[in-house]
Amino acid sequence: MKKAAFALVLVVVLTPLAAQQAKPEIVDLHFHWEGKAPLDKLIEQAAGQGVKLGITGEGGATWGLSGDKSLTEFLSKLDGKPVYRGLQVYTLDWPQRYSKEVLGKLDYVAADALMFPDSNGRVIALWNPKVEFPDAEDFMDRYVQHNLNVLAGPINIWSNPTYLPESLQPKYDKLWTPARMQKLIEAAVRNQVVIEINSKYNIPSAAFLELAKKRGAKFSFGSNRHDDEPGNLDYCQTMYRQLRLSAADLYVPAGPKVK
Ligand SMILES: [Zn+2]
Repeated sequence: MKKAAFALVLVVVLTPLAAQQAKPEIVDLHFHWEGKAPLDKLIEQAAGQGVKLGITGEGGATWGLSGDKSLTEFLSKLDGKPVYRGLQVYTLDWPQRYSKEVLGKLDYVAADALMFPDSNGRVIALWNPKVEFPDAEDFMDRYVQHNLNVLAGPINIWSNPTYLPESLQPKYDKLWTPARMQKLIEAAVRNQVVIEINSKYNIPSAAFLELAKKRGAKFSFGSNRHDDEPGNLDYCQTMYRQLRLSAADLYVPAGPKVK
């Protein structure tokens, strides 16, 4: 009897401790280092806040790390550093621009849908504050389709998910209807694409994340910080607690899908 009672006390005492120990490693998988600040300093600063960095290079079709040569140079600067190595890609044809050998050195590939091909063939940068769409519903239908195209690619992380141009942000909850949210969540889960919780824009909404959690999506944290910008993971951590996520819900980089 005594033994059993003692065991029970031990379980009760140890459970909160065990829960504390299960705290996941906090990783910022959307950090853009542009060489303006020393990398070691950035790593040290982040570590001081208990955060490991995912250094995310940017590769457009004609700019940034657009091919093997520039990506290899970038990756060599990360050699031996305690960081994850990522690449954010900007056009759907990105797998053709790199060899599998060089891509194989990455821990993850991310993409967002912020370069939006408009109906007149022009590509619009949705983060430009002057961007406006007079017909918001029409924009949303085309934007959802563009997101589906991005999510169909061999990427690991969907960055800046559900971002809206500034002019439409006040209507976020109205425009992101359950049907639109479900469509993209389904696609992310089906294609095993991780949904970033983004603390630059505080997106996606809690409602979106609840639906995604129910559907079994995986999540990552992203500050979308550049070298000398202030930034934090507050929104990510708030959502992590609010949604009662656990370490098992978070993505751990394990290499790109193109192998
Ligand atoms: Zn980015």
